[in-house]
Amino acid sequence: MGLTQQNWEISDRHLWHPYTQMKTAPAPLPIVRAKGAMLYTADGREILDGVSSWWVNIHGHSHPYLNEALAQQANELEHVMFAGFTHRPAVELAERLAGVLPHGLERIFYSDNGSTAVEVAMKMALQYWSNLGEPKRTQFIALKHAYHGDTVGAMSASSPSLFTAPFSPFLFSVLRAPVDLSEDSETRSLLCLQAMENLLKSQGDTIAGVLIEPMLQGAGGMIVWPSSFVRGVRELCNRYGVLFIADEVLTGFGRTGAMFACNHAGVSPDIICLSKGLTAGYMPMGVTACTGSIYEAFLSDDRRKTFFHGHSFTANPLACAVALASLDLFSREGTLDRVKRIEAKFQTELPRFAAMDRVADARTIGGVFILDLQEEAGGGYLDANGPKLAREFLRRGLLLRPLGNVLYFMPPYCVSDEQVAWAFAKMEEVLTEWVA
Ligand SMILES: *Cc1c(COP(=O)(O)O)cnc(C)c1O
Repeated sequence: MGLTQQNWEISDRHLWHPYTQMKTAPAPLPIVRAKGAMLYTADGREILDGVSSWWVNIHGHSHPYLNEALAQQANELEHVMFAGFTHRPAVELAERLAGVLPHGLERIFYSDNGSTAVEVAMKMALQYWSNLGEPKRTQFIALKHAYHGDTVGAMSASSPSLFTAPFSPFLFSVLRAPVDLSEDSETRSLLCLQAMENLLKSQGDTIAGVLIEPMLQGAGGMIVWPSSFVRGVRELCNRYGVLFIADEVLTGFGRTGAMFACNHAGVSPDIICLSKGLTAGYMPMGVTACTGSIYEAFLSDDRRKTFFHGHSFTANPLACAVALASLDLFSREGTLDRVKRIEAKFQTELPRFAAMDRVADARTIGGVFILDLQEEAGGGYLDANGPKLAREFLRRGLLLRPLGNVLYFMPPYCVSDEQVAWAFAKMEEVLTEWVA
C-alpha cells in the first residue's frame, strides 16, 4: 500500500531522513514491495536496485529461504540480552563465521551496524595494548579517502570531509597515509606503503593499529587497490608489531569477488569488521572478529581487563538466524560463482564506457562497476551532476546514486544477465544524452 495524503502530512511533520537536506530534497519514493533485484513503487513502477539498497543486499530482496528463517526464529525467540544469557543462533553463527573468515579470526563480538563494528575494533585494539601494559599505543594509521562510519570514533578514522566537518572539534586525530589518485594503482600503493612505513618507523611505539578498507575504498570514491597493497600492510604490521584492522563492512560476503577482500591477498588481519552483507541486507548487525591472542589479552582475574562494551541488541537472534541462512545460500546457490559471472560481464562492458568522452576512468572489482565522470566546477561529493544523473536513471527505472562524480553500479548478486544488460543500456543512454 502507498502513502495516503494523511501519511504524507505526517511524514512532512515528523520524519527526518538520513543524508538528506530536508528543505530541498524531492519527496522520497514510497516502496511497497521488493523481490530479487527489483523494488516496486506505490504507483506501480518497477525499479532495478542498482545500489543493493545502500550496499547491504546480496541474495536479492524478499528471498523465500531468508524469509522463512526469519519467521521461524521470530516464533521461537525474538531477543534476549546477551550478557549472562546465550542462544543457539549466536553460537552457530560464531562457528560458521569462524569457518569462513580468513584464517585465525576465531573470536566473534557482535554489535549493531558497520559503524559500531569499527568502534568496537578500535576500542578492542586500544584496550588490547593497555591490557598488555603498553598504554602508550593510542594512535591509528588510516588512509586518505577512508570511510569507516558515522559514529565519533568511526568518523575520526574516516578522512576529514564534508560529512565530518561540523563535528571536527570532537574528533580525535589519526595518522593519515596518503592516497594519490593521480597515480596508477600500483604506484599509489607503493607510495602509500612507503609513507605508512615512515610513520611506523618514527612513531611506531605509539601506534595501536593500521585500519584500512581492503581492496575497495567505498564511500571515499570507490577506489580499487591491488592485492599487493593489502599484503604490504600485513607485512608492515608484522614488522612493526602493530595490529592490522580490516574494515570489510562493504567488501565482506562476496562483494569484491572473494568471500572477503583479504582473501585476494591471501592474508588475515588481526581484527575484521563486518556488517552490510552479513545479514544479506535483512537486519542491522555488526561483527568484530579477532584472533585468539587478542582475545586472550582480556582474560584476567583483574576485572578491569574486561572488555566493557555492549549494546542492547547484541547478538539479536533474528539477525543471527538470517545471517546463518544467508551463509547457507552461499553454498546452495553458488553465490560466489554468481559474483564471478557478474564480474566477467562488467569487464566486457568496461572498454565501451572507458572510451566515452565524459568518463575519466572506468574500473571494476567483483560485483562493482565504477565510472569516474569528468568533474564539474566544484566537484567532489557536492558535484551537481550526481543528483541530476540519479534523477535521470530513476525516471528510467534504475536506482543509481552517484557519490559526487563517481557513478557505480552494485546490484544484488541475484541480478540476471538480462537485467545487467538492460542497466548498461540505460547507463549508456543517459551518459550519451547527458550534456552538463
Ligand atoms: C557503510 C560502511 C560503514 C558504516 O556502516 P553503517 O552500518 O552504515 O554504520 C563502515 N565502513 C565501511 C567500509 C562502510 O562501507
